[in-house]
Amino acid sequence: MAAIPALLPSTAFRDQLRRRGGESAARCYQCATCSSVCELAPAARPFPRRQMLLAQWGMADQLAADPAVWLCHQCNDCTVRCPRDARPGDVLGAVRSLAIEKLAFPGFLGKLVGAARLTWPLLLALPVLFWVTLLGLTGRLTPPAGLEAGWAYDALVPHSFIYAVYFPVAAWVILASWVAGRRFWTALGASGPRSGSFLGNLMPALVEVATHKRFGSCGAARPRKLGHLTLLWGFVGAAVTSGLLIVGMYIQHLPMPLALDHPYKILGNVSAGLLIVGAAILVGNRLGDRKAAGASSAFDTFFLSVVVLVIATGMVVELARLAHAPSFALSSYILHLGFVLCLFLTFPYSKFAHMLYRTLAMVHARMAGLEKR
Ligand code: SF4
Ligand code: SF4
Repeated sequence: MAAIPALLPSTAFRDQLRRRGGESAARCYQCATCSSVCELAPAARPFPRRQMLLAQWGMADQLAADPAVWLCHQCNDCTVRCPRDARPGDVLGAVRSLAIEKLAFPGFLGKLVGAARLTWPLLLALPVLFWVTLLGLTGRLTPPAGLEAGWAYDALVPHSFIYAVYFPVAAWVILASWVAGRRFWTALGASGPRSGSFLGNLMPALVEVATHKRFGSCGAARPRKLGHLTLLWGFVGAAVTSGLLIVGMYIQHLPMPLALDHPYKILGNVSAGLLIVGAAILVGNRLGDRKAAGASSAFDTFFLSVVVLVIATGMVVELARLAHAPSFALSSYILHLGFVLCLFLTFPYSKFAHMLYRTLAMVHARMAGLEKR
């Protein structure tokens, strides 16, 4: 006789889910309308009806290892059709935020960012305070006297300071993401057998991420797809520009700051434009049809707020330099550096981490034959 699997319902998990905006799970009466309308669910393993049941029972471990939780794009096609207003799209969003916290390395940082409703002022203020302290201790809290028009930000905050802070932070983020990603991958493996190579399945998954093709098949979230995609390409462009600037400075020995018509500068400004448009669409979407857009938890709002602050201060920084206003530029730059640091440091613990987990879930789905084709 086959062993009966252990059921480990958790009342603590149900309480946490309620606090994260998943309280509507209790209203679900398992009619399966949601699973039948979901365009992303494979016929062999439909979701989200089953996940609603697991959420009602408080089955935290099963949900943390369930690829369906991440294959859901929170398009809310199911939410707008649910006859009980159980909001399955939002419930899965709340489950994802708890999964990020559960998988986080180290766990206390996951809890700190997970409690964004209480901790977001601290998470934003500490990195800014760090830069104020560093520049204060090195006598750089005021711009050097006699700056002439055409100065570069290196005159205010030397590049060596930027590298000394962000390279170790990047290494830490990669380590924390790798440990959490491994935990998730191992948990996914327990949910069913996989075949094929990881890399061979990673490439098509990345193409899917880059085009958001499947997201486009959802009905209620078309505007969100556009905002999401624009923001993604804005981030990619900003990352490529940063790399090119390093090449430009140290290999090509280009004079800084670059002229506005230099290709690297154009790429940077186009990327900034994409980030602005993407963030505006997502914020506008949140303020529009609330049911189709989904509930805004503190966890979601924190991430979107940090992105908006990074973009806004980045624009001010560029305009302040062009306007030759060094004091204002330095204050704006300190805020910008602090918000960028916050964005990087919270990557493995905030909604930003969905890039990692969703990609792994998509690779797993391909390898486990769970992908909707
Ligand atoms: S979430 Fe709504 S649509 Fe889905 S099974 Fe429950 S009651 Fe039915
Ligand atoms: S939110 Fe969209 S992708 Fe997620 S389960 Fe509902 S219909 Fe499917």
